[in-house]
Amino acid sequence: MSTIAAVSTPNAVGGIAVIRISGENAIQVADRIFTAAGGKRVADMEGYTCAYGFAHDGDERLDDCILTVFRAPHSYTGEDTAEISCHGGIYVTRRVLRAALANGAENALPGEFTKRAFMNGKLDLTQAEAVMDVISARSERELKMAEDLRSGKAFRIAEGCSEKLLRVLGDLAAWTDYPEEDIPAVEPAMLEKKLAEVRDELNSLIVNYDAGRIVREGVLTAIVGRPNVGKSTLFNLLSGCQRSIVTDIAGTTRDIVEETVRLGDIVLRLSDTAGIRETADVIEGIGVEMAEKLMTSAELVIAVFDGGCPCTEDDMYLIEKIRDTKAVAVVNKNDKEQMFDTDIFTQINIPFVYISARENNGIDELKNAIEKVFCISNNTLNSVTAANERQRFCIEATIESLDNAIHVLRNGENLDAVNVLVDEAEQRLLSLTGKRITDAVVDEVFSRFCVGK
Ligand code: GDP
Ligand code: MG
Repeated sequence: MSTIAAVSTPNAVGGIAVIRISGENAIQVADRIFTAAGGKRVADMEGYTCAYGFAHDGDERLDDCILTVFRAPHSYTGEDTAEISCHGGIYVTRRVLRAALANGAENALPGEFTKRAFMNGKLDLTQAEAVMDVISARSERELKMAEDLRSGKAFRIAEGCSEKLLRVLGDLAAWTDYPEEDIPAVEPAMLEKKLAEVRDELNSLIVNYDAGRIVREGVLTAIVGRPNVGKSTLFNLLSGCQRSIVTDIAGTTRDIVEETVRLGDIVLRLSDTAGIRETADVIEGIGVEMAEKLMTSAELVIAVFDGGCPCTEDDMYLIEKIRDTKAVAVVNKNDKEQMFDTDIFTQINIPFVYISARENNGIDELKNAIEKVFCISNNTLNSVTAANERQRFCIEATIESLDNAIHVLRNGENLDAVNVLVDEAEQRLLSLTGKRITDAVVDEVFSRFCVGK
C-alpha cells in the first residue's frame, strides 16, 4: 500500500506536534527528511525506538525533532510507521509534512490511518468507529462508552453470536446435504432455542441504544409555555449565563435562542422560545409560530407553567399539545404561593416537577425526571450498546432475519428455508464487524474521521 503522511495533532499552536508517516516506504521517507544527531540511520532503527535529531527539506534544516519508529505489524496501522515530533508551530509542522510529501509520501485522507488499521486486522469496524468516539467524548460517561467499544466489548458479543450461527449453519448443512447419511436430525425446538439465544444477545446491544445516543449526541429540547411563566429564566439558569432576555413584560422572547447544556449525564440542545399565546403583534406572532413548530420537531419538550397562577386556557392548549410527546411539565415559581392544580398531569401521565428558576431550586428533580423519560440510569448506561446508526441497523437487520427463521421453524416449514434465513442473518452480522462489507460503507465510516487519525 502507498505511504501516507499527515499531521496527527491539532492544527493549532502547541508544545509539540506529531507528523505521522505510515506505509511500505515510511522508514525510507523518514530517512530522507530526518538526520539523527548520533549519526544512526533511520533504516537501522528497530521498532519502538526513537532518536533525537533534526528534520530537513533537502539541505534546509527545519527543526529539532524526535523520531519514533514502529515496525510492522507492531504499529497503530499495522504497517511500518515513523512519527516525527517537532515543535508545535503551525508553520514548522506544515514544512515537515511538506518535506515528507516531497520525499515519497502522499497526503493521508481523513481517517486513513485507522482505515489501514482496520484493513490490516488490527481492529474491527466497531472498534475503529469507537476511536473517533473516544476523540470526541466530552464527558466521563461518553468516554467510558467509547472505551468499552474500542476495547472490543461489542465486537466480542457479535463474534460470539456469529460463531453460534455458524455452528447452526453447519448442523443444517450436514443434515440437508447428506440426508442419506446417519446424521442426527436437526431438532426444531433445539434449533429455535439456539436462534432465540443469539437474537436476545443481539437485542441487548440495542435496547439501550437510545439512552446511549442521548448521552453522546444530546437531545433536541424545546422550552415552551405561555408568556411570563419563566422559560427564559430557566433557560438562563440551565445554560449558566444570561443568554435570553428576562423581563416581566409578556412577549419579550421572540427569536429562538439556543444553547447546549449538560444536565447530569444528558446533553440538552436547548431552545428558548416565544411564549405561546394569541397575539396581534406580527413579530411576536412569527415567534409563536416558530415555537409551535419546534415543539413538534423536538425530542423533548420542557413545558413550563406558573405555579403562582391557576391553570389558564393557554396552559390547557399547551397541555393538549404535549400529551403524546416526550415531555416534562415544570411548575415554576415554587417560591410563591402555589395555585396550579397538578392533577391534570397525573391524569394524562406527564411527569412534572416543582421548581423555582429564579431561586435555582428543583433542578436536580428536573434532571431526574428527564433521565426517567429517556430511561437513563446507571444500568442502561453501563451496558454495551451499538454506537451509531450503522451498527444499530446491522443488528436490527440480523434480528429480523433470525425472527423470520424462528417463524419459519415454528410453522414447520422446510429446513432449507431456515437455512437461507440463518445464512442471511450471519451475513448481516458480519457487516457489523466489517468482516463482510462493501468498500462504499468502509469509505463512509472513515470519511467522518479527522485527518491524521
Ligand atoms: P418567559 O416569558 O416565560 O420567558 O418568562 P421570563 O423568564 O422572562 O420571566 C418572567 C417573569 O417571571 C420575570 O419577571 C422573572 O423574574 C419571573 N420569574 C421567573 N422565574 C421565577 C421564579 O421561579 N419565581 C418567581 N417568583 N418569579 C420568577
Ligand atoms: Mg422569554
